Amino acid sequence: MSDLYCVFGNPIAHSKSPAIHAAFAAACGEDLVYEARLAPVDGFAAALAAFVGEGGRGANVTVPFKEEAFRLCDTLTPRAARAGAVNTLSFADGRVSGDNTDGAGLVADIVANLGFAPAGQRILLLGAGGAARGVVEPLLATAPATLTIANRSAGKARALAEAFAGMGTVDALNFAELAGKSFDLVINATSASLAGDALPLPGGVFAPGALAYDMMYGKSETPFLAQARAQGAARCADGLGMLVGQAAEAFAVWRGVRPATVPVLAALRAALNG
Ligand code: NDP
Repeated sequence: MSDLYCVFGNPIAHSKSPAIHAAFAAACGEDLVYEARLAPVDGFAAALAAFVGEGGRGANVTVPFKEEAFRLCDTLTPRAARAGAVNTLSFADGRVSGDNTDGAGLVADIVANLGFAPAGQRILLLGAGGAARGVVEPLLATAPATLTIANRSAGKARALAEAFAGMGTVDALNFAELAGKSFDLVINATSASLAGDALPLPGGVFAPGALAYDMMYGKSETPFLAQARAQGAARCADGLGMLVGQAAEAFAVWRGVRPATVPVLAALRAALNG
C-alpha cells in the first residue's frame, strides 16, 4: 500500500500541494499518496489524530493551523522551535515531529531560482505574523548586512527581532520609520495583498537594482508587486517558487530524497497563467 500524506488547512480546496507532491513522487519514483484535508477551525487536533490512526506518515499544515501544530508536537527541529510554527509533521512510533520548511523554501527560491545573493545585502521583511516568523532564521543564515523587520503593529516586529537578535543584525521599525532607508531585497510577508491594500512604504525604500518578493502569488500581479514596480523595484517575484521550495524541503524530510523544483514550478506557472 502507498504511504499516506496530506495537507491540512481551512480552506484547503484550492491547495496546489497535492499536485506538487504527486509530481515530486513521480519524478523520484516514490510510492505515496498525498491528499488535501479540510480540518474544522476548532478541530485540527482531532483531524490529525484521525489521520495518524489511518496510518498517515506525514502532513503539511497551512493557514490557520501552523501555531496549533507547533503546540501539538512531541519533538521539534531547532528551526521550528525558533519559528514557533510548524508546516511539516512526521508521524512515527506514536510520536509527532515538527519542522518548518517555509524559510528554506523562500531562500532556495531567492538564491537558486532568482539568482539573488543575499550575503552582504540589506534585507527588509514586511510583516511579523506566522510567515515572517518562519523565514527570519534562514534569512539571517544567508549573512545579510542587515535584516530589518517592519510591521503595522510595531510591537510585534520588535518581539520578533528580539527573538532572533543573537543570530545577526536585526532591527525592528514601523512603516513610517522606513523613511530615508533603502533596501536591496524587500520581502512582503504581510497579508495586506489579500485584502487588496497597499502598504504605506515611503519612497526610496527600493534601492537601485532591488528585488521585490511577495510571498503571495496569483494569476495577475499582486498589489504589493504592482506597488513595488511603481516605486522603482528593478525586479519582482511572487511566492509560487517559495511554495514549491517548501514542499521540496518537506518531501526531503519525509522521503530522504530531494526532488528537482524547476520543472514543477514551470508546470505550476503555466497552469496558473493558462
Ligand atoms: P498572519 O495572519 O500570521 O500575519 C499577517 C501579517 O500581515 C501581520 O504582520 C499583519 O500585521 C500584516 N497585515 C495584515 N493586513 C495588513 C494591512 N492591511 N496592512 C499592513 N499589514 C497588514 O499571516 P501569515 O504570516 O500566515 O501570512 C502572510 C502572507 O504570506 C499571506 O499572504 C500568505 O498567503 C503568505 N504565505 C505564502 C507562503 C508561500 O509558500 N508562498 C507560505 C506562507 C505564507 P499586524 O501584526 O499589524 O496585524
